[in-house]
Amino acid sequence: MVAVIAAVLIAALQQPTALTIGSASARPGQASSGFIEVPAGSDAATRIPISIVRGVQAGPTIALIAGTHGSEVAPIVALQRVRALIDPAAMRGTVLIVHVANMPSFLGRTIYYSPIDGKNLNRVYPGKADGTVSERIAYAITNQIIERADYLVDMHATSSLTRRGHATSAHLSTRRIRRNCGANPP
Ligand SMILES: [Zn+2]
Repeated sequence: MVAVIAAVLIAALQQPTALTIGSASARPGQASSGFIEVPAGSDAATRIPISIVRGVQAGPTIALIAGTHGSEVAPIVALQRVRALIDPAAMRGTVLIVHVANMPSFLGRTIYYSPIDGKNLNRVYPGKADGTVSERIAYAITNQIIERADYLVDMHATSSLTRRGHATSAHLSTRRIRRNCGANPP
């Protein structure tokens, strides 16, 4: 009996732990999609669609973020394709994908500024738990995505709504850079 219990305990300890972010949860070699819920505060609640792709082998974590500015749809479409192309069985490390960071801006088709609080999500990091919706989104992404990442790429693009070209930019940062410069350098 003791041997059986010991065997069960050993098996449980050897079971690789799941990485759970919001409603997404993945063990090594698995992929999962879900939502980070951003609770209501001084304005309405929202949610952030995400995917976790975990390689079979341990390794660094990269976070890919699209939709900080909701009218810039090219990175949003690109990351949906990337998600479908990545095979967790053939990779090392973890990819965290934020498909649409700023759902209010995406649904409202606004340029740079949230239709709810008038703030630019790109300028309110690391956010506030009790702030307006843009600040609560930044807080959620900072604590649930960026703090887990070794590398971060925040993807932007021009759009049919912007007059001037808003070039795609990639912000690659380490934890140390984030601590020193904030989550999203200007
Ligand atoms: Zn942008």
